[in-house]
Amino acid sequence: MTIYNFSAGPAVLPKEVLQQAQAELPDWHGSGMSVMEMSHRGKEYMGIHAQAEADLRELMGIPANYKVLFLQGGAHLQFSMIPLNLLRGKASADYVNTGEWSKKAIAEAKKFGGVNVVADSGDKNFSYVPAFDTWKRDPNAAYLHYIANETIGGVEFNWIPQIGDVPLVADMSSNILSRPVDVSKFGLIYAGAQKNIGPAGLTLVIVRDDLIGQAAANTPTMLDYKIHADTDSMYNTPPTYAIYMAGLVFQWLKNNGGIAAMERVNIAKAKLLYDAIDASNGFYHCPVNKADRSMMNVPFTLKDANLDSEFLKLADARGLLQLKGHRSVGGMRASIYNAMPLAGVQALVDFMNEFARKSY
Ligand SMILES: *Cc1c(COP(=O)(O)O)cnc(C)c1O
Repeated sequence: MTIYNFSAGPAVLPKEVLQQAQAELPDWHGSGMSVMEMSHRGKEYMGIHAQAEADLRELMGIPANYKVLFLQGGAHLQFSMIPLNLLRGKASADYVNTGEWSKKAIAEAKKFGGVNVVADSGDKNFSYVPAFDTWKRDPNAAYLHYIANETIGGVEFNWIPQIGDVPLVADMSSNILSRPVDVSKFGLIYAGAQKNIGPAGLTLVIVRDDLIGQAAANTPTMLDYKIHADTDSMYNTPPTYAIYMAGLVFQWLKNNGGIAAMERVNIAKAKLLYDAIDASNGFYHCPVNKADRSMMNVPFTLKDANLDSEFLKLADARGLLQLKGHRSVGGMRASIYNAMPLAGVQALVDFMNEFARKSY
């Protein structure tokens, strides 16, 4: 039986990448060592590290005046590092609140300075992205922060806010590399790796040069972007194996046509699944405003929540795994990241149609 893993994260990785990692595990390229065992200062690992960065730069078209940092601590640590580094003596920053991850970022930022919530979709249970012309921005904000894709609520920005000179900061943990993005529109982009990049333990930060080197006094050394930028993310021991795995994923993306090709498949996958939900005569329901539906995380409920456990049990038996929704929202959630093939979404849709017919 083919297994399809719809986990929100850690999430599915490309089969080819896992197979390559398996083949290279005990002896990387004749070095006699596993990548896990290599000194991070040795020439083999330094090559792996530099290649991963170069491939990511090529894939995303990252301009030369941006640093790519391979850090640890997850997206959660960025909720602190961003205000510590980017407030730069200013009183406050702007935050958009579109759901669970927004709330966590906002709560953390409040420990370091003022937070001005420019818009909040809590009035409709975080089921939409507030229209830009309703945002109450502060022209003196140190930066504006938003969650590009709310992984739990399944709400995605399908547009980039245009905010002039105020640095734009985006958490792209769950949609990075899923579609082309103009990096030059951003001051800083960050992402935990375990959704669309590689294994857990690596956090990617892409930050514009001029925003580095102005951290608050008393910022711990490890939380200052400058130390990591100055040392090519090798101030301390980087998460070497996770970076190696991310590098294999970047090569897989390049071998499969890059991000534009990935976007075409992602659009097809999302359409297949949302169409099935919308055509189910209310048996399945997605609570998210259509224009703001996530291409990566598809939350849906069954018309009768008493059917949830039966749905999950039968899906499991078919090899369709990890469909249970986040504990804070219930229902179901199918995460369909880059590494989820169209065939996996087709198998899910076939099962959903069958289940709905049987349960009527
Ligand atoms: C998963 C996720 C996080 C948390 O990531 P960690 O690596 O666990 O800290 C933050 N933001 C978004 C949008 C996420 O999807």
